Amino acid sequence: MNITFLGAAQQVTGSCHLIQVGKRKLLLDCGLIQGDPEQDQKNHDSFPFDPATIDAVILSHAHLDHSGRIPLLVERGFRGSIFAHPATIDLSEVLLEDAGYLNERGAFWENKKRQRQGLELIEPLYTQQQASRSLEFFKPIPYAEIHSLFSDVNLQFHDAGHILGSCIVELTLSENERTKKLIFSGDLGHAGAPILKNPTFLTDADIVLMESTYGDRLHRDWESTWDELGTIIRSAHSKRGNILIPAFTVGRTQELLFCFNKFFDDWQLNKWSIFLDSPMAIKTTSIYKKYSSIYEASVRQDIKSSGSPFNLPNLRMTSSTEESMALNRIQSGAIIIAGSGMCSGGRIKHHLKYNLWRHQSHVIIVGFQARNTPGRMLVDGASWLTLWGEKIRVNAQINTPGGLSAHADQQGLTDWYAHFKNRPQLVLVHGEPETQAILSEKINSELGIEPIIAQYNQVIEL
Ligand SMILES: [Zn+2]
Ligand SMILES: [Zn+2]
Repeated sequence: MNITFLGAAQQVTGSCHLIQVGKRKLLLDCGLIQGDPEQDQKNHDSFPFDPATIDAVILSHAHLDHSGRIPLLVERGFRGSIFAHPATIDLSEVLLEDAGYLNERGAFWENKKRQRQGLELIEPLYTQQQASRSLEFFKPIPYAEIHSLFSDVNLQFHDAGHILGSCIVELTLSENERTKKLIFSGDLGHAGAPILKNPTFLTDADIVLMESTYGDRLHRDWESTWDELGTIIRSAHSKRGNILIPAFTVGRTQELLFCFNKFFDDWQLNKWSIFLDSPMAIKTTSIYKKYSSIYEASVRQDIKSSGSPFNLPNLRMTSSTEESMALNRIQSGAIIIAGSGMCSGGRIKHHLKYNLWRHQSHVIIVGFQARNTPGRMLVDGASWLTLWGEKIRVNAQINTPGGLSAHADQQGLTDWYAHFKNRPQLVLVHGEPETQAILSEKINSELGIEPIIAQYNQVIEL
């Protein structure tokens, strides 16, 4: 019995771990490597195993850094089952098919350039159709039920509170009369976040794989985050401009709508027209609505008395391109939520073009902004932004309220691990090396154990 770390080892993306128990091979996640073009290219490489020999994939949640290479795995010969929470399957359909579509479009434009330069043409990583085909292999597993995947492998999912359907994976593995319990945190949620439950605490394990994305920092408390957002929105109204909010389509968009609903009067939102301008976000919001049974108890209670937490009297969902383009003519009083979350694509780029140069406009950055993205440039105080080759002056007020994060912080991670009795072996995955070193030291000084920081291709015997 062993586990090999084949992704998200000393980095955040590309989550993929191979478990071997007897003759059985299981993959925990099969995620996309994301980052600069050089990193992106690695997704085309062959897998460090034969996909046809993998018996099953266990998918922690729908984010592409955990699921994004699944269509490729199927294309290259995988024929087993992909076990995931039902909500993860619904979200994966939207995310993987969109990824396939973007791959095709990216390859199409790249090949136009290459043809003119006489270069060899490229193939998309996978197509939308290939993404659809991979969905046929998914099998739903709800929270808390114990499923025997094979005679020597039992699986149980627990709510990780990170995005809808996100799971902590509990595997009981048997080989030669020996049984080991492996827990994989997946991505752990930020306790106190709106809508979803807090990450489940577990107490028994022989080995724990834990994410470490924000292992070096503490998030701002929720109360002051909401206060700041409210202050920004109230004061923006007096300037008579628009507010743009670039937001990730899964999770952050729904949290924003939820909070707009909750603080509707306090933030004087009746003075605004609110637009959800993203076909993807509209789809994922309807998936969030479908799974209200897994929300946090108080939210479920509120739904009984006041209906869906995502409905607002002045909210319009703008699906079509024409509707979206019509928003360009609005000079004031609009709050526009659109993707992409880091402003590197999607409709938000058009809205930035029409609003960024205006002194009355506001941009509220509510998500993580990776290096070299337009969103990050705005956060770093750029005075110009180049969009489609055109330089746009940044006169809008850029607001960056912290605190909105879908990941547990250093204390959240430490507390989650501290609930395990007998301090099982701890392996840190899904984090940058500097962050992992800081978290490792914190856990060592607080709990007296030395975590292993997973290295690429490292094998740990169970
Ligand atoms: Zn995630
Ligand atoms: Zn992740």
